[in-house]
Amino acid sequence: MTIQDSPATQIRAEGFPDLAGGQAGTSTRIENYVGFPTGISGTELTRKATLQARRFDAVLSSFHSAVELARGPEGLVRVDLDDGQHALARTVVVATGAHWRTLAADNVERFTDAGVYHAVMPTDAERCRDEDVIVVGGGNSAGQAAVHLSRAARSVRLIIRGERLAATMSHYLLERIESRPNIEIITETEVSAVHGNGRLEHADLRNGTDGNSERIAVSAVFVMIGADPCTDAVRMMLDLDEAGYITCGAGAAACEGPNRWPSTGRQPHLLETVWPGVFAAGDVRAGATKRVAGAVGDGALAVRFAHQVLEA
Ligand SMILES: Cc1cc2nc3c(=O)[nH]c(=O)nc-3n(C[C@H](O)[C@H](O)[C@H](O)COP(=O)(O)OP(=O)(O)OC[C@H]3O[C@@H](n4cnc5c(N)ncnc54)[C@H](O)[C@@H]3O)c2cc1C
Repeated sequence: MTIQDSPATQIRAEGFPDLAGGQAGTSTRIENYVGFPTGISGTELTRKATLQARRFDAVLSSFHSAVELARGPEGLVRVDLDDGQHALARTVVVATGAHWRTLAADNVERFTDAGVYHAVMPTDAERCRDEDVIVVGGGNSAGQAAVHLSRAARSVRLIIRGERLAATMSHYLLERIESRPNIEIITETEVSAVHGNGRLEHADLRNGTDGNSERIAVSAVFVMIGADPCTDAVRMMLDLDEAGYITCGAGAAACEGPNRWPSTGRQPHLLETVWPGVFAAGDVRAGATKRVAGAVGDGALAVRFAHQVLEA
């Protein structure tokens, strides 16, 4: 969560459980961020970002999490911290991100980002050329991933726990999947374990109806089972969409729920929530791209809008 005030800038990148760096810090290699043509490890990227923020006099604090957003005195926003202290600010940028749902299968931690992935990058299809891969999930992101990977992979098994894909995936994607001879849809099944010696080699598929397991050779498992936005601290004061992400911009303006945009004589800025002066940036906001570049771009935009609010 980023707290902005004027003239001094204060940033609290509260780290629970992963300290400054968030999801990006857990990625072994980020290959699609501008300026790093051969990729960069998440740890290195976030280390450099932290150094850069300090150079611009940002104050980083990683000891406490924000537990509540509340109305402070004189129109200020109050951010309550988990140690009983609070911070007051005229503008706040909520950048609390999301937690990707992880696969509940044996050995997943050993292979995370080294055979088990939570995102599909454009380069992944080529990386999986002539290999057998698995995509777990029944939503549109899983469908798009399966179609993308099938362009180069020898086989793509799309694993879902439910009986049918049609209930959870757009019709056009389903048609595309069904037209690809190298995509196999496996229903009522889950990945129960992953195995390998140094690299991912096998996955156990457990049938949900009879409980039988089958071990198959596989070089990559892409887990696309959604993410949970981190909004516990703000949900009482802001508007969230159906999936729990913070609405902002036009979404905030259109909100008719209990937390709605007040009659201020202006419309909310692109990343402004229903609370004037409170912005949402990165994965926590509705419609985010769920990419490092998108989160960084949101941050830059939110700061610009925050300055406009402060200068008004
Ligand atoms: C394994 C993995 C690999 C990825 N690989 C890539 C990739 O190669 N390329 C790419 O573009 N994207 C990748 N992504 C996605 C990318 O990391 C995210 O889109 C990006 O990190 C989002 O940034 P964010 O700042 O919005 O949120 P996050 O990175 O989720 O950061 C949010 C931060 O806020 C903290 N926080 C949460 N709640 C509170 C609270 N109440 N108080 C204080 N702090 C709080 C969290 O602990 C966290 O540190 C990957 C994601 C994962 C999980």
